[in-house]
Amino acid sequence: MIEKAPSCEDPSDPGLLPVAEALQRIEKVLPQSAFNQPETVDLKAALDRILARAVHSAIDVPSYTNSAMDGYAINSNDIPTAAQGEKTLVVKGTAWAGRPLQEPVLAGEAARIMTGGMMPEGTDTVVIQEHVSVLEEGTKVCIDATVEVGRNVRFSGEDVEQGQVVFEAGEKLGPAQIGQLASLGIAEVDVSRKLKVAYFSTGDELRSLDEHAGQTLAPGELFDSNRHSMAAMLAHMEVEAIDMGVVRDNEEDTRAAFTRAAEIADVVVTSGGVSTGEADYVTKVIHQLGDVAFWKLAMRPGRPLAFGKLGDAVFFGLPGNPVAVMVTFYEFVRPALLHMSGARLKQTPLMSAICQSKLKKSPGRTEYQRGIVSLDTQGQSVVSTTGKQGAGRISSMYAANCMIVLPPGSGTVEPGESVLVQPFFGLI
Ligand code: AMP
Ligand code: MG
Repeated sequence: MIEKAPSCEDPSDPGLLPVAEALQRIEKVLPQSAFNQPETVDLKAALDRILARAVHSAIDVPSYTNSAMDGYAINSNDIPTAAQGEKTLVVKGTAWAGRPLQEPVLAGEAARIMTGGMMPEGTDTVVIQEHVSVLEEGTKVCIDATVEVGRNVRFSGEDVEQGQVVFEAGEKLGPAQIGQLASLGIAEVDVSRKLKVAYFSTGDELRSLDEHAGQTLAPGELFDSNRHSMAAMLAHMEVEAIDMGVVRDNEEDTRAAFTRAAEIADVVVTSGGVSTGEADYVTKVIHQLGDVAFWKLAMRPGRPLAFGKLGDAVFFGLPGNPVAVMVTFYEFVRPALLHMSGARLKQTPLMSAICQSKLKKSPGRTEYQRGIVSLDTQGQSVVSTTGKQGAGRISSMYAANCMIVLPPGSGTVEPGESVLVQPFFGLI
C-alpha cells in the first residue's frame, strides 16, 4: 500500500498552521517602518493615507453659535404661555450666513436668520419660518406657545472643541476625516510614508502581457494574471508598487530577482513556486538568501505561504493559484502593509448571514468561499455561494461580493444555518 503524505487534498492535517496564529506570527516581526518615517502631504493628496501623528484642534467647530434652520431668532423669554396664546415680535433685521446682524435683539424683538447665520446677541432660540405668521410685509412675526426653548441652534464647539484630540495617530483618512481636517483649517498632514512593495510572478508556464500580448499561447502556457491582480490590489493600498515582471523557474533568475527586490523594497510579494513541486526554485533560493518560513496554512484556498525577512525587507511568497493569491493578499499582505504603516484598523469587519446554499466542507481548515450577500424581503442578511470554488477560478471572485468565512471546526453548512461573511465593500 502507498503511504500518502499530507497534501492540499487532506481536510485536516495536525501540522497545519491556523490562520489566526499565522497572523500573530506575522505581526510580531513586522517593522513599523512607514509609520516611523512620516512625510507631510497636502490635504488634497491625503486620501487613504495613515496619520502618523495625532491631530489636535486649534479652534472650536462650529466656531460661532449659529442657526440650524431658516427662521427667526428670538429670546426664549418672549415665548408666550398657553394662556397668552400668541405674541407679535418686531423684526429687527437679518442675520445671513457670513453676514452677522450687528445690533443686539431686545425683548419683544426677533431677527430674520438663515441657516448658518450667527445667533445675534440676545437670542437663544430659532423658530422655523414654517411656524410663524409673517405680518406687515415681514416687519413683524407672530409666534405661539408651541415654540421650544433653545431649538434649532448649533452651539460653538458642538462638533469639535478647541484643544481636543480629533484623530489619534493611525487613523486612516477617508472622505469624512478629510472633511473634518479641512473644517479645522488644516491644509497639510503628517502621514506614514508610502511603503515600497516589489512584486513578481514566478513560473516557466507564464507568458507576460508585457512581451506576449495578443500572441497565441503554446500548449502548456498561460498568461500571467497574478501580477495584474496584484498590481490592482496594491493600487488600492497607497503604496509605491514596483513591478518586477515574470521570473523564470531557474535558480539564477530567481536569485537575481530576490536579491534586487530586497534591496529596493520594504516588502517583496511573489506568487507561485512556494509549494513543494520540483520546479519551485523560490524555496531553494530563499533559504539561501533570507530567514523565511514555509508554512502550510490551515486555510483554503491558500495552503502554502512563505513569510519572513529577506535582508531588511519583509517577504510574502503567495501561492500561484489566482484566487489563492487574492485571498492570501487580503488576509495577510493587506493587514501587514497597514500594520507597517501604523494603521489602527487592519481587518475588515465580519457580519453574520443566513446561508441559502449547501456549502461542502470538512473540518480542519478555515475556508474562504466566495458568496453573494444581500437582504431578503424580511430585511435579513442572506448569502449564497457563487458555485464551484476552485482556487484557479478567478471568475468566482468577481461573481462574489463577499467571502464566506468558515472556521476550521465547521463541517458542511446546510441551508438555513448562520455563517460569517467578510464583505468586499471597503476591502477591494
Ligand atoms: P505554483 O504554486 O507555482 O505551483 O502554481 C500553482 C498554480 O497557479 C499553477 O496552476 C500555476 O500555473 C498557476 N499560476 C502560477 N502563477 C500564476 C500567474 N502568475 N498567473 C496565473 N496563474 C498562475
Ligand atoms: Mg510554479
